[in-house]
Order: sequence, then structure tokens, then C-alpha cells
Amino acid sequence: LPGPRLECPQHADIAALLPRPTAESDKYRRGVLAMAVGSDRYRGAAVLAVGGALRMGVGMVRYAGSQGAVAEVLHHWPEVVASVLDPMDPVGSLPRRVAAWVVGSGRGLHPVAAAELETVLDSPRPVLADADAITLIGKDPRLLRDRSAPTLITPHAGELARLLPGTEREDIEAHRLDHAARAADEYGCTVLLKGSTTVIAEPGHPAVANPTGSPLLATAGSGDVLAGMIGALLAGGLTPREAAVCGAYLHGLAARVAHDGAAISASDLFDAVPRAVAALS
Ligand code: AMP
Ligand code: MG
Repeated sequence: LPGPRLECPQHADIAALLPRPTAESDKYRRGVLAMAVGSDRYRGAAVLAVGGALRMGVGMVRYAGSQGAVAEVLHHWPEVVASVLDPMDPVGSLPRRVAAWVVGSGRGLHPVAAAELETVLDSPRPVLADADAITLIGKDPRLLRDRSAPTLITPHAGELARLLPGTEREDIEAHRLDHAARAADEYGCTVLLKGSTTVIAEPGHPAVANPTGSPLLATAGSGDVLAGMIGALLAGGLTPREAAVCGAYLHGLAARVAHDGAAISASDLFDAVPRAVAALS
């Protein structure tokens, strides 16, 4: 008989999954997360994703981007190890020896972004591909189908439609679980489909429905914070499925606790993430 089709985590499940520093921890063992997100046009996406990762808890964020994005990231988060991509060799100047990658949020669709994505997906490390990276994969599915290392994609319905030719956004919204599971099977990766109820699908596992979601999150930039939060969990050693479940749960909880249920903007999530973690126990 097939197992349960849908699982629904609770506080204790998330508390058990969450990586916590120990006396033996150092910044490298806690995980170095490389982030190729944001651009001169979308500097805020870089600040939001990096902030999500830092507040979730990570050993180190290594950020790589344009001069303008690097300046903005360092202005908000001086703890980041940042490097400006060499315009003559942008792909060659990406960070090496990292535990996991986040790529795509606000990064753009230009050929340099495509070449960068190809290089990141060549890495044996876990990769979270968001936003523009998902659109680029839709244009060239080989990028993802050729990859064997763990991969998580975090589309909203419109982005998932770009991966499933002939499928409209409306079809996805009407049958979210089925479409997330289909994309996971077709691309051989973990899929976190964002929206009113976020679902997480992975081949061979029951899907997970996140119970903490909140329409307060329907605001620009909240998806970028989520990408960073999940990236930190990947760098901390969780599998893509665990990281997605844990990140989505705490993202929703953070939105609820941030202003006691009143409206938030995406950067309000930074201070709320530690409070969401504290609310687990
Ligand atoms: P993005 O589409 O990348 O900006 O991400 C938006 C974030 O807000 C995702 O985490 C979505 O799951 C969440 N979100 C958007 N709309 C809703 C909604 N109506 N109810 C709950 N969560 C939502
Ligand atoms: Mg987004």
C-alpha cells in the first residue's frame, strides 16, 4: 500500500530538525553558504536573502555579486564575506569550498546569469535555485536534469508553470500538490511550491503541506528571505526536504509573530525569525 500522501509537521518536528551549535562547533563546521542572488537592479533581493540566512543561523555567508549589490549587502550585514564578480571572468570568481548554494533570487536572466547558474549546478554541493534561476532552468531543462547532487527549487505558481510546458498558472493553483509532485519527478529534485498553502514534494517521499503559512507573507521580498533561510539550513547539513520543511515552517511562524498578526514587510522577518525559533519550545 502507498504510505500517507501528505504530511503536516508540528512544532516538535521542526525543533528536532533544527541544527543547533554545540561546544565543538566552529564557523566552518556550522556551514558556509554561498549566495549568488540580487543584482544592481535588485540589490534588495541580495540584502533580504542574506539576512534570512544569517538570522536562521549559519557559520558564514559568502556573497558574490555586482559592485552595487556587494556594497548594499555589506552596508546591511558587515559579517558577510563578500566578493565583487570580476567582469572579465564572473564565473571564475565565484566562491569555492562552500557547503551549499543559493542562486537566482533577483539575479537576472542575462547570459552571465545563465553561465553562473550552469557553474553552480555543476557543483557537488546542495543547491537551492529560486526565481530567475528557475526561469533559466525552464529555458534549458538540461541544466537540472543532468545534475545528480541534491537540488531544491522554490517556485511560486507562475515560476513552476515555466517548468511545465503547456501548464498554466491557474492549473497549478487549482492542483498545487499534483503539479509540485510532477515537477519533482520530471526534474529529479525537491520542489517547494510557494503560495497560499506551501507544499514540498520530493520523489519517493510523501509530500508535506506547511501549516504555518500566512497571507501576511504576500508582500514583495518575502520569498527572498525564505530562500536565504532554507539555504542556511542546507549549509547546516539538512537534506533539501528537511531544509524546505523547516524553513517554510519558521518563515510562516515568523510572519505571524513579527507584529502579532498585523501587516509586515519582508525585512520585518529578520528580527522575527529568532522569535519564531524560540516559540517552538
Ligand atoms: P515570492 O512569490 O517569491 O515573492 O514569495 C512569496 C512568499 O509569500 C512565499 O513564501 C509564499 O508562500 C508566501 N505567500 C504569498 N501569498 C501567500 C498567501 N496568500 N498565503 C500565504 N502565503 C503566501
Ligand atoms: Mg520570489
